[in-house]
Amino acid sequence: MILSFHYSTSQPINQSTNAMYFKVVTIFPQMFDSFWNHGIIRRALEDKKIFASAVNIRNYAEDRHQVTDDRPYGGGSGMVMKPEPLAAAIRDASQTLTGTKTVLLTPQGRVFNQKMAWELATSDGLILVCGRYEGVDERICHDLIDYEISIGDYVLTGGEPAAMIIIDAVTRLIPGALGGEDAAEKDSFSDDLLEHAHYTRPGNFEGQEVPEVLLSGHHQEIEKWRLESSVMRTLLKRPDLLLQNKNLNRQQRDILKKWRFEIEKILDSQ
Ligand code: SAM
Repeated sequence: MILSFHYSTSQPINQSTNAMYFKVVTIFPQMFDSFWNHGIIRRALEDKKIFASAVNIRNYAEDRHQVTDDRPYGGGSGMVMKPEPLAAAIRDASQTLTGTKTVLLTPQGRVFNQKMAWELATSDGLILVCGRYEGVDERICHDLIDYEISIGDYVLTGGEPAAMIIIDAVTRLIPGALGGEDAAEKDSFSDDLLEHAHYTRPGNFEGQEVPEVLLSGHHQEIEKWRLESSVMRTLLKRPDLLLQNKNLNRQQRDILKKWRFEIEKILDSQ
């Protein structure tokens, strides 16, 4: 069964709670039916940590055929999303949601990352505008868009998967959405480090043992191990994060120094 979490697009919404509001402006609202109905997003909707809906741009087209695209001025291939229905849909969404930011999903925007997710999570809500075809008429961007965001240097056929990615990443930062209050703060990228390795039962999987310290019950030692795992994974997998991080604390620097000496010992012995 598909749960319905939609709220009216024409009535003002009581935003007195601390919930976050998402409204996706798209020509394919049905793509979100499954997205709203699984995992953390579903639970956040049920717990009213978030409110979300997808609004169909076609409902704002004034012609009989509900046309939302047209040929590009100047010629060339592909179609462009017409400004009038898009503008009407965005305006309607922002009228019903105060204090929201409007995001255009575009491969030409700032590339989305965890810091941006934290930044977006501080707003009361997001209106996420999904392009299709060759994109949206440029005049939409001037007055109606607060941020242009890309999810990476590649081109999708539409902004809907990008909108889902942003909603997912932002929702898990809303207090209480994950269950454990600080779970998101320990995730990769939150302090420019990757998170430590994780293990669960069985203790021995195909001959590979779980690190002994994790079975010791010694919390301080476990925290030390996790910090070391986090720093070393970042060094091996994403050294760029360490290079750009000017705020490594003493413990983190000591771990790098310790391994520098180990590596030098190996090199000297060759
Ligand atoms: N012609 C556009 C260009 O070269 O910049 C690409 C248009 S793309 C085929 C259609 C729509 O998909 C875009 O308007 C945008 O909403 C979405 N899209 C494509 N790639 C994206 C990305 N990397 N991040 C966010 N949205 C993207």
